[in-house]
Amino acid sequence: MDHFHYRDGALWCEDVPLARIAEEVGTPVYVYSAGAFRRHARVFREALEPAGDVHLAYAIKANPNLAVLRLLAAEGYGADVVSGGEMARALAAGIPAAGIVFSGVGKTEAELARGLDAGIGQFNLELEEEGVVLARLAREKGVTARAVLRVNPDVDAGTHAKISTGKRENKFGVPIDQAPAMFARLAALPGLDLRGVAIHIGSQLFDIAPLEAAYARVKRLVDDLRAAGHRITHVDLGGGLGVRYKAGDVPTEPADYGAMVARATRGWDATLMFEPGRVIAGNAGVLLTRVIWVKPGVVHPYIIVDAAMNDLARPALYDAWHDFDAVVPTGDRMTANIAGPVCETGDTFAMAREVDAVKGGDLAVFRTAGAYGATMASTYNSRALVPEVLVDGDRYAVVADRISAETILAAERVPEWLA
Ligand SMILES: *Cc1c(COP(=O)(O)O)cnc(C)c1O
Repeated sequence: MDHFHYRDGALWCEDVPLARIAEEVGTPVYVYSAGAFRRHARVFREALEPAGDVHLAYAIKANPNLAVLRLLAAEGYGADVVSGGEMARALAAGIPAAGIVFSGVGKTEAELARGLDAGIGQFNLELEEEGVVLARLAREKGVTARAVLRVNPDVDAGTHAKISTGKRENKFGVPIDQAPAMFARLAALPGLDLRGVAIHIGSQLFDIAPLEAAYARVKRLVDDLRAAGHRITHVDLGGGLGVRYKAGDVPTEPADYGAMVARATRGWDATLMFEPGRVIAGNAGVLLTRVIWVKPGVVHPYIIVDAAMNDLARPALYDAWHDFDAVVPTGDRMTANIAGPVCETGDTFAMAREVDAVKGGDLAVFRTAGAYGATMASTYNSRALVPEVLVDGDRYAVVADRISAETILAAERVPEWLA
């Protein structure tokens, strides 16, 4: 079932017409479907049932909205967090500290300390020195830090370079060939319960072969570590599954991924941990926007919408594709460029795209905007911070306010020597 669907010629989210949200909340606005989030969470969980003992930690950087986190907590998901701010969000949403994994290549000493104080379930170490600091902090606090060592398996995930994380030149993890010696040194530190290893090789992966190759390398490492006398109880296999952004995209089905995991990890005798982000959130949201003008162009007309690169950065950052559909399509089509109002050529969502014919004042959506959408928004060009709405059946709520340009201005000061 598609939670964004046409009913009597107009686009709805579940049982709420998008036109009503545009009217009452204004545009641009992100609209999320609670039903879609729940379905994705369940499909992913069921897909991994053949893999046995698993812990699911939603990668909250994909969509950290508090209401979304609450909803996923109710589905039994823990959280993968990459900053102190994300940790605070996960805790505020009611995700138990024990279910939180603290990842990130630049955790500060203050963040590690806060994580220990909160009783975070697991720290994913990115370098040896981090483990040394964490162990010292734990001893000072009289606690034990549960941790795993993130390794870089040196595989090419075959995704966009800016979201590839598992090649040896990337900043993430420790080189897998150096991991055994490092693991031995860290495992000897009092205060640290080093219980396993972690990987995460990239995002928006369509092909699971690189994941399977990485898992095979992890398996050899786990065997070596056990042979050296270490107790390995947890292996974190990261996230990275892709979603469909445009016609012809064929992402891996969660069920096929689950079957591969079950095959690749048979006999590992460890709790498997997963950090799905995009696969849970991507198709659970759209960015609802209003056409300001259709500007004649030299080659194609420009559809100028009221959403811009500051609201949805993915096209500018990764040349990403988001389908663009009219909320009330007439049946006519047009070939156009689609751009926002920001004063940068990079503020372009599509060039020479065949889309629903629209005119000034019409509503439209950018699809598959639930992941890495609102969370990457900025106020560039002194634009408001885009609001978020969650639909659940026939009700909806604004789950993040529009932060106006005036509110942002009010946080700025002119020093007295310039007054
Ligand atoms: C970003 C990230 C994820 C989530 O990636 P998706 O592609 O959204 O599933 C998981 N783990 C870590 C460590 C990450 O940095």
